[in-house]
Amino acid sequence: MSDCDGLQPAERLWTPWRMSYLGGERPDPGCVFCRVQETDDDATALIVHRGEHAFVIMNLYPYNTGHLMVVPNDHRSDLARLSPETRAEMAELTASFTTGLRQALRCEGFNTGMNLGDVAGAGIADHLHQHIVPRWRGDANFMPIVGSTKVLPELIPATYAKIRADVARQKSGIDEVVLVAYDPAREHVLLDSGRLPRIEARPGESSWPAALAWLRSRVATADLIGWAGPPSTAADASTAPALAMGVTPGEAPMVSVAVALSSLPTEDREALEASLNRRSSH
Ligand SMILES: [Zn+2]
Repeated sequence: MSDCDGLQPAERLWTPWRMSYLGGERPDPGCVFCRVQETDDDATALIVHRGEHAFVIMNLYPYNTGHLMVVPNDHRSDLARLSPETRAEMAELTASFTTGLRQALRCEGFNTGMNLGDVAGAGIADHLHQHIVPRWRGDANFMPIVGSTKVLPELIPATYAKIRADVARQKSGIDEVVLVAYDPAREHVLLDSGRLPRIEARPGESSWPAALAWLRSRVATADLIGWAGPPSTAADASTAPALAMGVTPGEAPMVSVAVALSSLPTEDREALEASLNRRSSH
């Protein structure tokens, strides 16, 4: 016979201390995960998605390329203090983002998990978060989950653009990706019939390889630089994703930005301006 004799299961579940915890903690202005939620510029903050109870953000100090964190909106250090809805949404986001990363980054596996408490290695112990770390065969023999510096093969703005483009595409249902391709001096941008090129991605294919393949069939050297769509993820439900690309100078067919800007449709102008602003801020 156990110590709980005489207690019905429901009584054990309805513990009053749990209720006081659920309503107890307030957003902490000193907490980076609380503060980042107030921004309008998700692209600069590296937020890839905002849900109802949780958001997904890239780790600025990644253990590996594409390292994401699923973070509850509420400032909580303990899983038991999160609402069941929040925990369910975090589990759903972890599932859908591992699927999405497999396609966007062609990774082969993941380390996922939480470090609860600073004793367990949590960098921001007061605001719990779930790590999603993509893995490739041969990327490391040993994955250090705590501390340690890794050499990353790709710049964070480019990885952000790959992930955000697929998130935006999924939300909007628009398979087209807008391409802002310009030379390093930012003097020329590639146009297609007076507009920024629009490339259709195939089902099951990530948006960025389609855009890069299209561009590389026209110029010798081109690389993905970053995100050129709207700063806020709230806009992702209604606009086509836009990617910024860098092209070797002097390669045709390039059109002068000065000439093109005034004649560009508004959404193209916005994508171009977002791309240029984003590039100068990184
Ligand atoms: Zn917080």
